[in-house]
Amino acid sequence: MEALLLPCPMRHVICAVSMAAMASLAIGVAASPVHSTALTIVLEFQGPHSDRSIDEMKHELEAVMKGSGLTFDWRTRSQVKNESFANLVVVRFKGKCVLEPVAYLYDERGPLAFTYSNDGEVLPFSEVACDRVVAAARSAMSGGDFAHADLLLGRALGRVVAHELVHMLSKSGEHGKEGVAQPALSGLRLIAPEMHLSPADMERIYTQP
Ligand SMILES: [Zn+2]
Repeated sequence: MEALLLPCPMRHVICAVSMAAMASLAIGVAASPVHSTALTIVLEFQGPHSDRSIDEMKHELEAVMKGSGLTFDWRTRSQVKNESFANLVVVRFKGKCVLEPVAYLYDERGPLAFTYSNDGEVLPFSEVACDRVVAAARSAMSGGDFAHADLLLGRALGRVVAHELVHMLSKSGEHGKEGVAQPALSGLRLIAPEMHLSPADMERIYTQP
């Protein structure tokens, strides 16, 4: 099983679409982690997704970020109209966020997700390539895994989003040496039973530049 480069070519992109999306949400303020602070995560789906996988993704992200002092307020784009939030990030899901129990191969190359940055400033906006996360998770699955493929996809998505969240909260493109913020995670690591935020990464999100 080939190790996938997880995310984060920190793209230096000025993306009209994403900037407009953030403006329309009346934000512009990046998430600034404060202890016991609620972070609103707005999910924007551009393709089909499985509710079971997305529920599992939320559970997994909360498990990974446990101990960070953050609580998570999950919203969809349609749920944030005419509201403003102190701490908010946007995660857009492109492609098909559904893992069907059929073993076939996808092209696994390319980043699973990335976070936008502009002039070195990390923006509170990430994009997840669902097709690639599905391919990575599927590549590591065998036998009985397919019976709960949707939950394993949710777990993988939770880790991918947690990884991007570390970039957004630490306002940095740097990676950790262990845990969810490592630069590369294999498909197997994405669906393996346990993954955490390392103490070093936890500290980084509170000592952002
Ligand atoms: Zn990264």
